[in-house]
Amino acid sequence: MKVHDMNSLSPTSKPVSRVIVIGGGIFGISSAVHLARLGIPTTLVNNGPVANGASGRSLAWLNSSRMRSEAYHRLRMVGIDRYRTLAAKYPDASWLRFEGGLTWDADDSTNEIADVYAHERLIGYDAQHVVPDGIAAVTPGVDARAVTRQGALFNPGEGWVDLPSLIELLLEEFLARGGKLVSDSGRAEVVIKDGRASGVMTASGASFEADAVLLATGPDVPRMVKKAGQHIADATPIALLVRTTPGQHDLRAVLNTPRVAIRPTPTGGLALDSAWSEEEVVTRPDGSYEVKNSTLQGLLDEASKVLQGNPTLEIESYGVGPKPIPGDGDPVFGELKDIPGYYVAFSHSGATLGLIAGELLAGEIASGNRHPLLDSFRPERFG
Ligand SMILES: Cc1cc2nc3c(=O)[nH]c(=O)nc-3n(C[C@H](O)[C@H](O)[C@H](O)COP(=O)(O)OP(=O)(O)OC[C@H]3O[C@@H](n4cnc5c(N)ncnc54)[C@H](O)[C@@H]3O)c2cc1C
Repeated sequence: MKVHDMNSLSPTSKPVSRVIVIGGGIFGISSAVHLARLGIPTTLVNNGPVANGASGRSLAWLNSSRMRSEAYHRLRMVGIDRYRTLAAKYPDASWLRFEGGLTWDADDSTNEIADVYAHERLIGYDAQHVVPDGIAAVTPGVDARAVTRQGALFNPGEGWVDLPSLIELLLEEFLARGGKLVSDSGRAEVVIKDGRASGVMTASGASFEADAVLLATGPDVPRMVKKAGQHIADATPIALLVRTTPGQHDLRAVLNTPRVAIRPTPTGGLALDSAWSEEEVVTRPDGSYEVKNSTLQGLLDEASKVLQGNPTLEIESYGVGPKPIPGDGDPVFGELKDIPGYYVAFSHSGATLGLIAGELLAGEIASGNRHPLLDSFRPERFG
């Protein structure tokens, strides 16, 4: 592999003296703080308070479980590495825990547990295949009766993060390093002049000039690049995340089960989501969402069934809205080939990738050099 020094400029690139980042989710804030660390004057523009998009309602399981391309697996593992460094700095953080993940599948022909175990062993991803009766010995708080006869996979290296807490921490550093936050000017648009990104204009009429703009507007990325004649395939669904009140549970791991995914929250509650419950959300003609009580109760019931002691769970709050997913499932990172200075960040698994994506994108913007870890994820693959 060719070695790139991300902090040095390529012979053809011009030094970047001002960068605007649009989007105060994990990709935007992580990129902004990494740009500030590189000494680049950076303004972060968000439509309202930071973390008000998908990052504010994410399950945020840090993982590279199951099967995917080698390049995507590698990027996720490097992503987890950055969280491990952060966890070593904040060992007592209630918002970042590495206490493993436990996964099981339905007891039918879709059960892939044995194949996934073989694959994870092959690639060196830490995995233990556990029979239901053996689960209590590896992780607490799970009702072993709910685990299917094919058993479960325990991945001790996995964890979870509370993204709003992380975003707050990164924002504090960004501001301390002289970064500017604009959150009261409405929606922003990228301004293109002479074929390259030249700044940003907001709905309230404020305008900012820049040498480079990073579009990190989550689910809005495909629609916004379309205005500039660019295509990024989009498979964004509407997702639902339910948070329960602090209660009596001993769960430590992230659970991925056929009917519900669960992780602890910093305040002692649980965060829950599932594929079936997001499919039950109705989008009204005016764009608002309708979440049925039966869906919320159904998710609580499914969670109770897999937790030791089958506790009665109560809703503290829930979040509903788009979950950014590119059309081919893979991340989209980097400069638009046809529009110099116009960078994008659009991905599923943005919790796992949040720190590393910000680091690599900031390096690319600052140096003009493309990082090889992002080579498989360029926007130009959509043509
Ligand atoms: C229910 C759910 C479960 C998930 N589970 C996991 C998981 O287990 N593991 C994992 O790794 N990932 C998971 N994800 C995915 C992860 O949370 C997202 O990939 C990530 O949060 C996306 O961050 P973002 O910065 O791209 O977007 P967002 O967090 O949506 O941030 C975009 C920001 O841009 C702002 N914005 C939009 N348009 C404009 C505009 N024109 N001008 C100004 N501001 C604008 C919005 O207000 C928003 O604050 C999950 C997501 C959801 C919703």
